[in-house]
Amino acid sequence: MSGPTRLRTAADLLAAEKSLDCVHCGLCLPACPTYELFGREGTSPRGRVYLLRGLAEGEIEPTEKVREDLDLCLVCRACEPVCPSGVRFGEMMELGRSEWLEPARRGTMKDRMRRLAVRHLLPKPSRLGPLAALLRLYQASGLQSLLRRYGVLKYVSSELAARDALLPRVPGFAKRRRLRRFFPAVGERRGRVAMLEGCVMPVVLGDTNRACASALAAQGFDVLVPERRTCCGALSAHFGALDAATAAALETVRAFAALGPVDAVVVDSAGCGSVMKDYGRLTEEAKGVSADDARAAAAFADKVKDVSELLDEAGVRPPAGRVEARVAYADACHLAHAQGVTAPPRRLLEAIPGVELVPLPNADRCCGAAGLYNALQPLESTMLLERKLDDLEGTGATVLATANPGCLLQYRAGIERRGLPIEVVHPIELLARAST
Ligand code: SF4
Ligand code: SF4
Repeated sequence: MSGPTRLRTAADLLAAEKSLDCVHCGLCLPACPTYELFGREGTSPRGRVYLLRGLAEGEIEPTEKVREDLDLCLVCRACEPVCPSGVRFGEMMELGRSEWLEPARRGTMKDRMRRLAVRHLLPKPSRLGPLAALLRLYQASGLQSLLRRYGVLKYVSSELAARDALLPRVPGFAKRRRLRRFFPAVGERRGRVAMLEGCVMPVVLGDTNRACASALAAQGFDVLVPERRTCCGALSAHFGALDAATAAALETVRAFAALGPVDAVVVDSAGCGSVMKDYGRLTEEAKGVSADDARAAAAFADKVKDVSELLDEAGVRPPAGRVEARVAYADACHLAHAQGVTAPPRRLLEAIPGVELVPLPNADRCCGAAGLYNALQPLESTMLLERKLDDLEGTGATVLATANPGCLLQYRAGIERRGLPIEVVHPIELLARAST
């Protein structure tokens, strides 16, 4: 199992080496999108470490102001790679949310949305279908366009209008179907992999999942998909519901175990991959988790790979076709900062004949999607997105590639609103296109 023991309690946080070793150097400040936006110490990594230390020591209370500064954190983890003290910021924020923020919430609409999503909706993927159908009805009936055209929601609240503007576009029923259970390798067989279907992906980004499975098959991998669709627990962990995240992790490990031995567990969602690689630490010594289950979770975690990592290690087989496009690549925070994967997706894009990779300024800056951040903090999320779109417009790209569902949907919403002629896809979709 990699890494130190996971922080689970205030005592862990105070005792653990590297959890609070902030030396106040300030190197993290320029890396932090919320510090850039608000310029307040409380919205910087250093300020948040100070707040978390104060909460752990019982020196400060989780007042509304403290909660607001901590809630504004994207948990994008851009502060981690630049921190010379190795402060484990993402983990500290997850613990902080679970220990002090959740119990102090007052039952506002945001609090109820957060609880509903991380405890009752996302961990039960079957419940997402009816919600998607309702959203589809709202969009396909023209009601959403009508409300937008006359700015009706702005009269109710600017936050509601911003939230509506960031809603994902739900495809028709046919595109919300599940993946086949098996995609056989084409040509010389290079391995047998299992693929995560996920909870949100099949509902709004089923085409991306299908492209991933067929591109892997075209690259010579047998692709197996578990019978039971599970949620990986990433969003629950992100919002401090560590018990729900642990339960989701165990369910996921069991669902994949039913497939038998595989060479790798492949993920096309950066946020999911990031938590799945951490299953060993998430379940180790967790309440109610047996030592056997924790060992199985750790062994599973060692097999998890982002699809770009797998293909980078195996070497991309040159596809038969071409994709003529100027492509800008935007790093997903949970791929670049949480997993340290930045070169493989770029190399994958460069391996596609016809693709011209163009540099995107601030490519590793958060787009504001950040799990449920765009639903919970829609105004701040929109401000972050607008900055990204300004950077993107200057590149002349015809395609924006990014490797996380939240980012894909966030960019699609922003690009549609600005009316830009830019397609937003996962890098693997371009490889799939060149492979058919
Ligand atoms: S970079 Fe690390 S040590 Fe320096 S101020 Fe930020 S959190 Fe503290
Ligand atoms: S996780 Fe992101 S938003 Fe939060 S403090 Fe670090 S850099 Fe800032």
